[in-house]
Amino acid sequence: MKLKISGDKLTLASAHMLTRHDKCARIHGHNYNIEVEVEGEVDENSMLIDFGIFKTAVGKIIKQYDHRILIPEYNKDLNISIIDDQITIETCEGKFYRFPKDDVILMPLEATTVELLAKYFHNLIKEQYPQFKVTVTMAETPTSVVSYTE
Ligand SMILES: [Zn+2]
Repeated sequence: MKLKISGDKLTLASAHMLTRHDKCARIHGHNYNIEVEVEGEVDENSMLIDFGIFKTAVGKIIKQYDHRILIPEYNKDLNISIIDDQITIETCEGKFYRFPKDDVILMPLEATTVELLAKYFHNLIKEQYPQFKVTVTMAETPTSVVSYTE
């Protein structure tokens, strides 16, 4: 049996940039829409999982990244330093950014592409729900969509 959730709790408005990319090296934002599908066995309550509980739990994971600047800390093209409550980022293109630390999430990724973000969110959800096969579908725009499953 499969179950799929989407909607307001699974949306994300975040900023990022992709180094060594023509257009996307400039900092910009996306309104991401995320869909999570789980596959598994129906339980003693005749449910795979309660929709409401599942949406709230996944929403809690996703919303930590909402209205933040997502910076890939494993990106070798970025020189990141944290001084007090400020983060400074120098890119291989010679750009220099400085943000309040609270506005930024340093992600353990090489790049904050939608591909790696979908995989990252998949892994966080899978950690909480190891009993299911989890698929995360993430749309950067309505026409640019990726899907990740284990
Ligand atoms: Zn982008």
